[in-house]
Amino acid sequence: MRQRWQEAGRLYLSRWGWQVRHRWERTPIGLRFAFTLTLILVALLTPWTALNLLYLDAALGTQARLNQMRRAQVAQLIIERELMNLLRHGEDYSVWNDAREAVLQRDLKWLHTNTIEWLTHHFYYDIVTVLQADGTPLVSTEPESEWLTRFPLVQDALRGKGDAGLIRHNGTVYLMSATPIYDEEWEHPHVGVLILARALNRAQLDRISEQLGNRVALTLYTDTNLLAPSSEGVDKDAIILRDSTKKPIAALKIESPLSETLLVSEVRYTAQRYVIGISVGIAFLASLALVWFLRAYIARFLTAIQRLASGDWDARVPYAARDEFGFLARTFNAMARQLQQAFEEQVRQHEEIQAQNEELQALYQQLQAAHQNLARLNQELTEANQLLAQAAVTDGLTGLKNHRAFQESLASLVQMAERHRQPLSLIMLDIDYFKEFNDCFGHPAGDELLKQVAEVLRQSARAYDVAARYGGEEFALLLPNTTLEQAVQVAERLRRQISAIQNPHAPVSASLGVASYRFGTAPAALLYEADAALYRAKRNGRNQVCVYQPEAA
Ligand code: GH3
Ligand code: MG
Ligand code: MG
Repeated sequence: MRQRWQEAGRLYLSRWGWQVRHRWERTPIGLRFAFTLTLILVALLTPWTALNLLYLDAALGTQARLNQMRRAQVAQLIIERELMNLLRHGEDYSVWNDAREAVLQRDLKWLHTNTIEWLTHHFYYDIVTVLQADGTPLVSTEPESEWLTRFPLVQDALRGKGDAGLIRHNGTVYLMSATPIYDEEWEHPHVGVLILARALNRAQLDRISEQLGNRVALTLYTDTNLLAPSSEGVDKDAIILRDSTKKPIAALKIESPLSETLLVSEVRYTAQRYVIGISVGIAFLASLALVWFLRAYIARFLTAIQRLASGDWDARVPYAARDEFGFLARTFNAMARQLQQAFEEQVRQHEEIQAQNEELQALYQQLQAAHQNLARLNQELTEANQLLAQAAVTDGLTGLKNHRAFQESLASLVQMAERHRQPLSLIMLDIDYFKEFNDCFGHPAGDELLKQVAEVLRQSARAYDVAARYGGEEFALLLPNTTLEQAVQVAERLRRQISAIQNPHAPVSASLGVASYRFGTAPAALLYEADAALYRAKRNGRNQVCVYQPEAA
């Protein structure tokens, strides 16, 4: 059970501690500083405050004691004055003739009336006694008045020396005077002694208090044990009352009035409030000042950091002292310097890279231009190559295939016909009497005629037919997938078209030989057979088509 309570207590404390720490860590640093500094300063100022209060207490105590001493002196003076009054009153009485006579005559009646009753009624004496010169009482307020003669004061008076002083009897302290009653001539011995006494009772004490003012409370201690020199019982501020032999008989204690106590405690309270208030105020102001200084220093760092953050690399913290702030400032400045150098280096590198980029860009453009140039040259070369290739297989005058190209075509078409088992026919054409034409109308006119004949051949050739200038004024037309009969028809049409050529110099005609490929023979055989047919057409009179006839050859 007890353990469980301890556990719960620990848990509560730790949670409370955690909350305090949580709040503390979220409190702004300035407030934390101010709070801590206030605590520290309050702790430092507390002894000062306590010392001040102690000093104040001492001062107040001293003041109170001084007041007390003054009051004691005054009280003593009042008692002395009372005693003097008592003595004077007794002396006044002792020179009264009627009184002397009454004592001498032992006129008890007169003494009762004019001494005992008169003095007790008008002056409120507690004891009035008249003694004879031998010490025996004549009249007295005290039934057993013998005890009065015990006191040295009374005995002195009986010996002729009047005085006043304090006595104590049955626990009561009295102010007493004893005066001799003299005879008429003042020379004779005195006739008796008058004793006047007033008890130092409550009423008497109150009268003294009134004269002291401020309602001072007076207390009389008559316990003899308390008065022993070694005793601690009586307050040291109390007045010790002594009899005529200087023997202490009572103590009179003077209590300071309540109002004064209240005033002192009020002064004390106000002083406490002021001292504590001023201490806390000083502590708080000091903390505020410190926090203000700290914040001002931190603001320098903040300004520099903000400038640095916004890209102002020249930002530095101005702080010269060699303390933690100085160390922080120097470290920050070193960091800012390095950042600045790094940034400048970066900028330099960036510019370098940009320059290199621009250079590369220019090079790239040059390369691209070179590339385009190369591509154009390549294109031109290709075109030239194509033209060259074209020229290699083309007859320059007529634009038909030349002899070499014809030979190649013949070989490949023979192969194709062989593979596909398709007919292949060849027409050979020769212009009639061309030599004469040339001779008569000139070589250029002959060239012109050659072009006209070539044009006829080109017009009638199908896409896959091969029209070629075989040589001189001899032409060849290879007809793939064409039978001999079909080839003859083509040849006939060609002959007619050539005959129809409108030449400005002379009519034109041509002889044509037709042959078809026989499977399994050489290309040259087809050429030979077509040529043989052409030769036959020439021989038969020209301007005609002849077919190769083996038996005829
Ligand atoms: P035939 O009727 O027997 O064929 O008589 P021909 O005169 O046509 O016979 P030949 O084959 O002897 O004549 C061919 C002539 O063609 C010879 C030559 O001067 C002429 N010739 C050859 N090539 C060219 C050429 O490219 N241009 C010109 N203008 N004439 C050429
Ligand atoms: Mg010829
Ligand atoms: Mg000819």
